Amino acid sequence: MDIALEQVGYTYAAGTPFQKQALHDVNVRIPSGSYTAIIGHTGSGKSTLLQHLNGLLKPTAGIVRIGDTQVTKETKGKQLKPIRRKVGIVFQFPEHQLFEENVLKDIMFGPLNFGVEEEEAKARALRWIERLGLPEGTAEKSPFDLSGGQMRRVAIAGVLAMEPDVLVLDEPTAGLDPAGRKEIMDLFYELHEQRDMTTILVTHSMEDAARYADHMIVMHDGMDVLQGPPGEVFADAERLAEWRLGVPRTVSFQRLYEEGAGLPPGPPALTEEQ
Ligand code: ADP
Repeated sequence: MDIALEQVGYTYAAGTPFQKQALHDVNVRIPSGSYTAIIGHTGSGKSTLLQHLNGLLKPTAGIVRIGDTQVTKETKGKQLKPIRRKVGIVFQFPEHQLFEENVLKDIMFGPLNFGVEEEEAKARALRWIERLGLPEGTAEKSPFDLSGGQMRRVAIAGVLAMEPDVLVLDEPTAGLDPAGRKEIMDLFYELHEQRDMTTILVTHSMEDAARYADHMIVMHDGMDVLQGPPGEVFADAERLAEWRLGVPRTVSFQRLYEEGAGLPPGPPALTEEQ
């Protein structure tokens, strides 16, 4: 399912003294089946953009195309429901949204809400609990008795149990230690490879983008400034430096080099640290 934004603008609190234009004439395409990284600094418009991907926000200008569905400022709320089923979003710190008395019910909540039969919702929940490596007996536990890392996995299972065609991840490793980060990112990569799913990762980590993505969109000041395969994007080191985005080194740097980005091996122009 291709996703495209055409001349999309978004203004918060239009017509009030707090008016703020967060997106300006954004034109991007997210290829079906790709692992796309959306990258940019805080305030560049990433989370405003991602909320357009499942109709949480409607553009104040332009068109958002999600598969066969078009969303414009005139689109009515009920027309957005099919999109919400197809596009799952794992928000930052998703564990803050857990609320049910036990893990099983929490994971079943989304599928039940979208009309999946009880038995099927339960089977999916149990499957995802196992797939995400949660210990046996987790299903009956209160989510609030779990560790932080386990709570995050439960929240992610809740989105995956919807079996979305498109999975959007908003800084999914925020607050995790390096080992936990790698585990979760590797898991998303495996899921991406195994399921016929488009994965969209919103991140400020150039390293993660280089390591996992096959397509990149760089945002700066509410505009899409660069998009294409990572090899091409990273080859534009001069412009990236203008936007204070460094080219990563280490394993992914090597991978890009091998893929022909044309970057010389050796010390990078910049690190990703700001
Ligand atoms: P990012 O996710 O890249 O940090 P955002 O999409 O959150 O960027 O923000 C883009 C711009 O929109 C920023 O200038 C931010 O301050 C502004 N903004 C975000 N949310 C709101 C809001 N609810 N009301 C007003 N302005 C907002």
